[in-house]
Amino acid sequence: MTPAKTIFKRIIDGEIPAKIVLENERFLAFHDVSPQAPVHVLVIPKHEIVSLADVGPADAAWLGGIMVFIRDVAEHLGLSKGYRVVTNIGSDGGQSVPHLHFHILGQRQLQWPPG
Ligand code: AMP
Repeated sequence: MTPAKTIFKRIIDGEIPAKIVLENERFLAFHDVSPQAPVHVLVIPKHEIVSLADVGPADAAWLGGIMVFIRDVAEHLGLSKGYRVVTNIGSDGGQSVPHLHFHILGQRQLQWPPG
């Protein structure tokens, strides 16, 4: 049986709408539906991978690419005073969608430590 598509795979495939910020052939950035800051954008790879727990040495090149893409998204969003990049991994990490994603949070003073 084919596993069900994640909500993010459905966004990548154009089956459900998203407010897209930037994209290229490998990565996609779109606004989170439940923003936790005035700016809350998700950055995902277009290929399917569950989380950072699933990467290995062969993934180093595109992982570097997604970090640069995140920087580009933050610049595009005008987050000149700073921002936070977070990825949640597994149940203790609070991950609810099993497709690797990085949250970009900004345009307010963020607190530390997170909950
Ligand atoms: P996490 O809890 O780290 O797995 O983050 C998943 C994020 O995806 C949450 O912040 C959700 O608000 C967000 N989310 C869920 N469904 C959608 C959607 N259809 N479009 C945009 N963001 C979504």
